[in-house]
Amino acid sequence: MDITSLKAWEMKEKILNKEISSRELLEAHIKKIEEVEPEINAFITLNKEEALKEAERIDEKIKNNEELGLLAGLPIGIKDNIATKNLRTTCASKILENFIPPYNATVIEKIKANDGIVIGKTNLDEFAMGGSTETSYFGPTKNPINKNMVPGGSSGGSAAAVGANEVPLALGTDTGGSVRQPASFCGVVGLKPTYGMISRYGVIPMANTLDQVGVFGRDVKDALLMLNAVTGYDMKDSTSSKKSDLPISIDLNERINYLEGMTVAIPKEYIELGPSNKEVQAQFDNALKVFENSGAKIEIVSLPHLEYALETYYIIMSCEVSSNMSRYDGIRFGHRAEEYNTLDELYKNTRTEGFGEEVKRRIMVGTYALSKGLAEESYKKALKVRTLIKQDFDRVFANHDIILSLASPILPYEFNSVINDPIEMYKADLYTVPVNLAGLCSMSVPMGTVDGLPVGLQIIGDRFKDANVIKAGLGYERAVL
Ligand code: GLN
Repeated sequence: MDITSLKAWEMKEKILNKEISSRELLEAHIKKIEEVEPEINAFITLNKEEALKEAERIDEKIKNNEELGLLAGLPIGIKDNIATKNLRTTCASKILENFIPPYNATVIEKIKANDGIVIGKTNLDEFAMGGSTETSYFGPTKNPINKNMVPGGSSGGSAAAVGANEVPLALGTDTGGSVRQPASFCGVVGLKPTYGMISRYGVIPMANTLDQVGVFGRDVKDALLMLNAVTGYDMKDSTSSKKSDLPISIDLNERINYLEGMTVAIPKEYIELGPSNKEVQAQFDNALKVFENSGAKIEIVSLPHLEYALETYYIIMSCEVSSNMSRYDGIRFGHRAEEYNTLDELYKNTRTEGFGEEVKRRIMVGTYALSKGLAEESYKKALKVRTLIKQDFDRVFANHDIILSLASPILPYEFNSVINDPIEMYKADLYTVPVNLAGLCSMSVPMGTVDGLPVGLQIIGDRFKDANVIKAGLGYERAVL
């Protein structure tokens, strides 16, 4: 048996039963990484030596019969926009190519405290801006299901690493879908919890009011395990919520039917904007039948402002991006241009050399939208529409447990195709961005394949009702397996 293909919770059981050591588990994953990485390119930087030391520390704990943390020696991939002390953190950008953070993000401290092992830093679209992991300075990641296809993005490295059995668990970030969409493309589970559930201290920001750390696993139980290891209030992050302090405790008894009596909403706007591929729609319809046959109550609802979600997201996100990116000035840290005569030229040359095309595009859009005279018309209006979108969701969640949709309107696609049309690329975020605008929680769970390519079901829940999303995911998984 190839141990790397097990679920994270199964690996954990084997460690706790002393069937395998943490070191053996880690070595099996390192071997797998060495085998597949030349083709997949899910990692930017590996952390083998430190990881081996950690595995030995954990094995020592096991030998001494000390209690292990939730992650009990499991190897974990970390998206490379999350700061890791003494381990290069690049955001997949030339501008941070050699940046070594002097501190750990809170999520890394939590992984360590829970005896998880950081095995390496995973690939992403530059600064998490994108949906295909093609804009990485370190080259694209390939989809392990079909290597001619993109893995989705921006957390494509994390999703592909879990899909290719390089790690059982990984962290990503989700500003407008970057955990759920690559999970859908790679056939794994991706969960973006409620805004405020996971500390963002040490997570390099893209758009602060939308960014949230998310988790990847092979099934819903894996995602729950990872979420409970990293959630919790953090006074170092002013957007962290005290509501995140309790672990999400769910009875995992196999006999419980979580779908029985669950109230499920389907937005009619999503039906109208349905995918062009009929078979993808059929997958979604089948999933609805599974919910219905298991006793869920399904109702069509309306989210009237949903049609403005993409524009609203791309304005707010770009404005925040343009402000966040100003710190890369070639002076404090990161890349600095070699040739310049004046201070202005230093900034200009550094940023021209250091940023890729998509990052520059968003800085320009954001700066423009925030400019005097335009900010009222664009940025401030977008904030107002954001509130309307949030209120639409509030109305639905007043009497429904979850909302269901596809995670992505399109299947994984070939390299160098959609990326050439930025608007087409942005449109692919249709189903995921409203969730970030409203600060909700949401998860993508594999539904099956169309033409051999995975399709994900998106389960959306109200703020701090992450347990509903997880229960729905568990219920669906149990009903289809
Ligand atoms: N694809 C979206 C974008 O390009 C989402 C990115 C993300 O969630 N980090 O903005």
